[in-house]
Amino acid sequence: MKETGFVKEIASQEEAFSQWYIDVVKKADLADYTSVKGCMVIKPYGYGLWENMQHCLDRRIKATGHKNAYFPLFIPESLLKKEAEHVEGFAPEVAWVTHGGSEKLEERLAVRPTSEAIIGSLYSKWIKSWRDLPVLINQWANIVRWEKVTRPFLRTTEFLWQEGHTAHKNREEAEEETLKILNVYKDYIETDLAIPVIIGRKSDNEKFAGAMHTYTLEALMGDGKILQAGTSHNLGQNFAQAFDIRFLDENQQEQYVWTTSWGTSTRLVGAIIMVHGDERGLKLPPQVAPTQIVLVPIFFDKSKKEVMEKTREYKRLLEEKFRVELDDRDSYTPGWKFNEWEMKGVPVRLEIGPRDLAEKQVTAVRRDKGNKIAIPENELVPALEKWLNDIQNNLYIQARTRLEENIRFTENYEEFKEIIKEKLGFIKAYWCGDELCENQIKAETKATIRCISLEEQQGKGKCIFCGKESTTQVYFGRAY
Ligand SMILES: [Zn+2]
Repeated sequence: MKETGFVKEIASQEEAFSQWYIDVVKKADLADYTSVKGCMVIKPYGYGLWENMQHCLDRRIKATGHKNAYFPLFIPESLLKKEAEHVEGFAPEVAWVTHGGSEKLEERLAVRPTSEAIIGSLYSKWIKSWRDLPVLINQWANIVRWEKVTRPFLRTTEFLWQEGHTAHKNREEAEEETLKILNVYKDYIETDLAIPVIIGRKSDNEKFAGAMHTYTLEALMGDGKILQAGTSHNLGQNFAQAFDIRFLDENQQEQYVWTTSWGTSTRLVGAIIMVHGDERGLKLPPQVAPTQIVLVPIFFDKSKKEVMEKTREYKRLLEEKFRVELDDRDSYTPGWKFNEWEMKGVPVRLEIGPRDLAEKQVTAVRRDKGNKIAIPENELVPALEKWLNDIQNNLYIQARTRLEENIRFTENYEEFKEIIKEKLGFIKAYWCGDELCENQIKAETKATIRCISLEEQQGKGKCIFCGKESTTQVYFGRAY
């Protein structure tokens, strides 16, 4: 059997992680560049992955009482300008529509960089009384942010996401919602995407423009850098005041609502690639893989008819339970096909040849561990069900182990710098809370506070930079 040099066409993950990433995106047929700078096309295989991710998250969002809606792509300039911090934060990356055909518009329209402004203006119309609350809406949409440096999925000028926007009658409910969504995201990312995350609160420097505070989920990538996987913002009454969202409470008192917003995007496709991928390409968690099982018939001229018939029979059987692909292309050798499906990260490959037929079995190969077993024909469905579960768990455990091995605590700034230089990963340290220390660390090491730990606020130590006594532990890292 001719093993081709398929995988040799991608850069080594070990030696050139960034190039490896780009190579996998292209070679696994997830996305391609376009003539619009910074904008990618998500190809069918990549889009199939995104659709499965959407489906998993959408189910969780709806199960917690939210409903989907769709708001306009354009935001009048006057609306965007209403929340001062918000507009200041987003102004540098807004794309503007100035003309309709050849006619100059009276007011410029922003192509949404996020939708708080347009949605806030509508909530002020819809919410009148405490009986109208809470409002729990999510939208799946595209977003435009004029980025200078772009990379497929991780940072693109146009990207896809979901953004939730909720309104509540008091501070407690808004905070409860913000944390509820943080946990919805955590379950989704850890269970469905098999990516372990560290959750926490952003420092004021890193929080969402206009938010009271921001919670975040941070994940470790294969190269030791950190990716922000999702955020959930408690907007307090900032946007309610800016957009005049008021209601009459139970005592007929007029009050401003409390709002939240939260989002995750196609960046998470990039996270899946960088967390699970290896030297042979992608490795997809079965839960979201567009193809969970690929069937590859192996035949010689005289066994072709028999093998093909049996393979089609298996396909019909498995299709009832799994997402299945039959690779019956004549123009490629089985070896070529194996490489290609490994590159695409399909969790299980089934090989069906004349010997398998004779033995009433199929040969199954796992993408995550590479091991090969024979499964008796009559045990096929339960055996594969178990395998896919095992793979999902194994991917999570592998990622979890790497995460735990790459969280390092230090109270010594020299050691901190050494870790950033040599190993990356998360660094746990005490921080005095002063922006000056935060900014100086960033300037010297490019490491930022990824989040302030929610769990470990006991004990005290010395600020990693200035040495002042502190009880606040934070996670530092160099981020995408
Ligand atoms: Zn300090």
